[in-house]
Amino acid sequence: MITDKWIQLRHRLHQHPETGFKEFQTSEIIADELNRLGIEVYRNIGKTGVVGLLKGRDGPRMIGLRADMDALPMNDLGKQPWASQQSGIAHACGHDGHTVMLLAAAEALAAERDFTGTVCFIFQPAEEGLAGARAMIEDALFERFPCDAVYAIHNWPELPAGEFRSRAGPIMAAGDRFDITLTGTGGHAAQPHLTHDTLLAVSELVVALNTLVSRALAPYEPAVLTVTRIQGGHSHNMIPSDASVTGTVRTFTPGAQDIIERQLRHMAGHISAAHGLTAEVSYHRYYPATCNSARETGIALQAAQAAGLSAQTAEHPALTSEDFSFMLQQKPGAYVWLGSGPGAALHQAEYDFNDEVIPYGVRWWRQLVALELGGE
Ligand SMILES: [Zn+2]
Ligand SMILES: [Zn+2]
Repeated sequence: MITDKWIQLRHRLHQHPETGFKEFQTSEIIADELNRLGIEVYRNIGKTGVVGLLKGRDGPRMIGLRADMDALPMNDLGKQPWASQQSGIAHACGHDGHTVMLLAAAEALAAERDFTGTVCFIFQPAEEGLAGARAMIEDALFERFPCDAVYAIHNWPELPAGEFRSRAGPIMAAGDRFDITLTGTGGHAAQPHLTHDTLLAVSELVVALNTLVSRALAPYEPAVLTVTRIQGGHSHNMIPSDASVTGTVRTFTPGAQDIIERQLRHMAGHISAAHGLTAEVSYHRYYPATCNSARETGIALQAAQAAGLSAQTAEHPALTSEDFSFMLQQKPGAYVWLGSGPGAALHQAEYDFNDEVIPYGVRWWRQLVALELGGE
């Protein structure tokens, strides 16, 4: 049963958001709740991560249920009474809701203990850009808690509340960042022949980079490259000696990622050389693509149907990225979307988690455990 207690806890977390690896109060609250439920608690895995272990009837199988718990470094412009009290920090991705849904499911599962094997509740820090999932793995998460499969749920405001989607194979993209700086001889704007024009070269480079996805990748390979920042110049009468371009690349396979990085370096080097400039390129791969395994995706969809949700295969993956991908590189599993709309989009300053979907998420977690660990 979803009581006001869980909604109140969700609001409390929303009021007191904490960013990646600083989830001190949040992890304390989670550990207290798990202790209260009689669940074994392990703390400080991946800095602020918390794991709860709940054993049912004797059995070898263990499944990992993961919720992320960090907030974003941005202002909360929500009008609700439980808007963030921390200036510059907001739960604008709904990880407060994910945390509460998993805690409420833990309460129900602990009360019944009607399964065979072990449920491992994984409360993960720092999903937003800091790879908390990888930090937990590097802290021996799966050696200490050898899960046979892992699952995660994310609220999805683009879908109506209660609509459930997942898909086998890639569901979220790999997220990369590139920074390119072109350097040469600046000078007087009226004497271009005595300079190397960094701004002209940067302009060419931006246009050329926008051809990479359509020309370097096969047409059946979805990807995005977006230039998000161009910097350079100070005045109307000076050609600057350096200028830079920053952007992001989203792909679904390591092969596509390799091609884009290689061609981007190639273009930056050659376009700058054509203008007598040098290029410095940094290319950082943040998160790999999130790839669901077939069996676990089937179970996730089946669990959603059993929970009375409208469960369908997602038509296409999203180009956003997610660090649960690191867990899915280690273990079979599935990442799923729970419709939570209508409302502001994820990462918007007005966003707030839709409490109406808490019972849906809890029902799904419970059905998932029944399907994965059912039977004697
Ligand atoms: Zn997010
Ligand atoms: Zn998120």
